[in-house]
Amino acid sequence: MSRAFFILLDGGADRPVRELYYKTPLEAAAKPMFDRLACEGSCGILYTIKPGVRPGSDTAHLALFGYDPHVYYKGRGPFEAVGLGLEVRPGDVAFRTNLGTVDENNIVIDRRAGRYFTQEEIKEIESIVQEACQEISKKFGVELVYKHGTEHRGALVLRGEKISHEVTGNDPHKTGVPQQKVTPLRDTEEARRTAEILNEFIELVMRKLSKARFNEERRKQGKPPANTMLIRGAGVLPEIEPITRRYKLRAAMIAGIALIKGIGKVLGFDLAEIPGYRGSRDDDFDTAFSKAVELLQSYDFVFLHVKPTDAYGHDGDARGKIEIIERVDKALKRVFENIPDDTYIVVTCDHATPVKIRDHTGDPVPFLMWGPDIPMDDVMKFCERECAKGYFGTILGLDVMNLICNYLGKLEKFGE
Ligand code: ZN
Ligand code: ZN
Repeated sequence: MSRAFFILLDGGADRPVRELYYKTPLEAAAKPMFDRLACEGSCGILYTIKPGVRPGSDTAHLALFGYDPHVYYKGRGPFEAVGLGLEVRPGDVAFRTNLGTVDENNIVIDRRAGRYFTQEEIKEIESIVQEACQEISKKFGVELVYKHGTEHRGALVLRGEKISHEVTGNDPHKTGVPQQKVTPLRDTEEARRTAEILNEFIELVMRKLSKARFNEERRKQGKPPANTMLIRGAGVLPEIEPITRRYKLRAAMIAGIALIKGIGKVLGFDLAEIPGYRGSRDDDFDTAFSKAVELLQSYDFVFLHVKPTDAYGHDGDARGKIEIIERVDKALKRVFENIPDDTYIVVTCDHATPVKIRDHTGDPVPFLMWGPDIPMDDVMKFCERECAKGYFGTILGLDVMNLICNYLGKLEKFGE
């Protein structure tokens, strides 16, 4: 029985970069392994949602796994919460959270409150936020659950009667502007009540954080205090058939960030935990690829998510992006001989994060498939321009699982 190894470079695609003599990072990187796969396999160009639509990582991943995001996407929060290990039940409203810094005029001056926190600081933060959760729970008769993740990140789950995910966050998504109020997006009792609960919760968290000991220390050390909680991505869990059942696959995932892990868990993937793999710039790709090869022995479908290509895109750092592509290529090369013979390898991106734009764009991304029955097309290099000349032509995100399962012999015939 054949199997598939799906490698995803988050935000890996790009536009021509002036400092790279108008090459893209994928064109400029030395990546003999990916280029060999392009030579021996076939390529194409992929729009994860639709031409020109700028995808988020969440909607793009849903589409790549075969789930139309227009049907199944009901906000980012629940995936973040599940990815952090929180329970999200039907009807619960979940949010992604950041610790942030506001000045005395309520202007957001750092959306990550300096990003880094010690273990002691995190403990104190968690107990402060949990205290606030309990006080608000008592007052409104709803349950609030908070869990802190890595660095400034966390998730918040709201559970109870008459709540709604149709509210904004308080995160203005940029600095130098006032922190917002949570506002109902629809004129319903549920949405109004949810906004009221959250605004009171945020005010309470801010009052408690302003008096916290650890913030005193942070100020003394010249670090930005964590004096507010910015919430966003309100959502409820979609009703969704697991990928294991839908495509009759045993599926495993290796990912470092909560959002992707949460999507994996919700879709029924088994998650492999690797301590040195957290979606950061120093991720241990060698261990991740060794683990993937081990998983290919017992799973039909192994998905490996590479995050820092996207992070360097957001930073506008072309060299950083190239370095990650080269490190991933080396890691794949090291394990290549141990990959089972009947494996199909798929390499693509969820969207472009061009270093010039520092955000996701609606450009197409390169797509590559290599394996036993894949014809060899004329594409010799895995990159944006070359892949556009490939055998698979122009495809959409929703086509990818069909293409994979077609080669794995997992699809029912359409008609007789
Ligand atoms: Zn992404
Ligand atoms: Zn991104």
